[in-house]
Amino acid sequence: MKLRLLVDNYTLIGEYYLGEPGISYYIEDEDAEGRPLRILFDMGYSDAFMKNAKAMGIDLAKATHVIFSHGHNDHTRGLRFFCDGLDTSQMKLIAHPLCFERKWEGDEESGAPYSREEMEKRFHCSLSKTPQFLTPNLCFLGEIPTIHPFEPRKPLGMTVDQDNNPIEDLVWEDSAMAYRSAKGLVIVTGCSHSGICNIVSYGKRVMREERVAAVIGGLHLFDADERLARTVEFLEDCFSSGGTFYPCHCVSLKAKMEMAKRLPVEEVGVGLSLEFASL
Ligand SMILES: [Zn+2]
Ligand SMILES: [Zn+2]
Repeated sequence: MKLRLLVDNYTLIGEYYLGEPGISYYIEDEDAEGRPLRILFDMGYSDAFMKNAKAMGIDLAKATHVIFSHGHNDHTRGLRFFCDGLDTSQMKLIAHPLCFERKWEGDEESGAPYSREEMEKRFHCSLSKTPQFLTPNLCFLGEIPTIHPFEPRKPLGMTVDQDNNPIEDLVWEDSAMAYRSAKGLVIVTGCSHSGICNIVSYGKRVMREERVAAVIGGLHLFDADERLARTVEFLEDCFSSGGTFYPCHCVSLKAKMEMAKRLPVEEVGVGLSLEFASL
């Protein structure tokens, strides 16, 4: 499996890509029959992911799958630009069923630019709370259960219930991708609103793999508090026999510095390219 970071808050030095507070990945693998899988996972806030992909020589029109980690607009607003003039009807779209619900914070809309109905017109949609396997070793995890009590669900802005009444948004749709490589599990996240330890533990369970080879993505961790301490403790155990940790997007410098004291933290930025050997 190959992964390229199309958008992140930071860009790597020496490569002149665009950065923005959002995330987008391009993931390549092949299915059990050897057919190529070209997956666009999240799209950032603007068209920066498209400009960066072009500069990297990646043709996003050839994507076979579009997957969203969750509905926040720093992951989904890029859809507006992606869908503009492109026939996406043959692309398979994978997400949690609540991904395209309306969301807002204060006076500002913070959700996806298109409703679920519009998405169903534009893509071949597969929306499910349960894990969706693209290959036996590559999976969209779906809804993440709360496994670790120190990572409870927290409201973030507002959304609507089934009857369109405003309710606090617990970001139930927040999910991640999991890949079982020769060296263990690779977890790729959006913002980890569900909690990175919950995601990793659920990924281990779904993929039937205890070893962790890499964790990359946003973690929504900012303060050097009790939760961060417990997170470091959990991840230290996961990485006790190797692996690499790539915290990015929504992780403060303070949190990264705390994590780097005990975890195998590596630098992340747009243009980062990772490859994981298959089983
Ligand atoms: Zn988010
Ligand atoms: Zn985010």
